[in-house]
Amino acid sequence: MSSAPPHFTVIPDDSYFSLEHSGQSGRSRLVVLAPDDPYYHLVRDKFIEGWRHADRPRPPVRAVLKILSTNESLNVYKKYRAKVAAEINDRKAKNQGNQKLLFHGTNRYCRVAENPDKVRICELSECSLCSIIRHSFNIEKSGNKHSFRRFGKGIYTTTCSSKADDYSFTGAKKFNWRVMLACRVVVGRPLIRRQDDTELTAPPPGYHSAMFQVIGKPGENLNYHETVVYDDDAIRPAFVVVYGEKQQEESSCVVC
Ligand SMILES: [Zn+2]
Repeated sequence: MSSAPPHFTVIPDDSYFSLEHSGQSGRSRLVVLAPDDPYYHLVRDKFIEGWRHADRPRPPVRAVLKILSTNESLNVYKKYRAKVAAEINDRKAKNQGNQKLLFHGTNRYCRVAENPDKVRICELSECSLCSIIRHSFNIEKSGNKHSFRRFGKGIYTTTCSSKADDYSFTGAKKFNWRVMLACRVVVGRPLIRRQDDTELTAPPPGYHSAMFQVIGKPGENLNYHETVVYDDDAIRPAFVVVYGEKQQEESSCVVC
């Protein structure tokens, strides 16, 4: 009988997935996780816990894939994380820099991640998902789809998978499943707000992110948690979650 996978309370540091160490290269930037992989459980459990819209049935998780990032990209993130850890004086803490695993929904115009053999990202300029997997986030490009930004110009993530689902859009002609990203985020010391502040472009001195706390009650005009960072170095995509009910019949893909 196999033992249960460990239940992570923080994201272990060995979860920095290096492209160079993977043996994969080029556009092959994803690895499908087996259902007994501890990271599969970490991400799936957070997705399930985070589905909080009572009016929408929680969709099944179909797969979890880990994202391979270049050492250069990961090192920039680690450096930023260490800097924030020093600022909030928690360099010896288990979870330096108050790092969280948070969801982000975005546009996808290909069928990457839909099947175990679709691990190659596309080169379509409009496919934000593949662009983020390849280069990570770019504040200048984020939020173009939705004009309203509660906390100004930044990169938006959430613990609430059902909220990230609102921003998950597939423009491919035929597709089967929905996808969203689970990202490492250096939250640091968050500026906690219960009201909008759409002019924000950076957190005030001493803070590293802005966090919107849940207000209201389910069934009322409920707003859900959001965490916003204002520095590209504060976030890296770590996993792709594939979920939902089948949308279309299987077809040959022209893109990926
Ligand atoms: Zn793509």
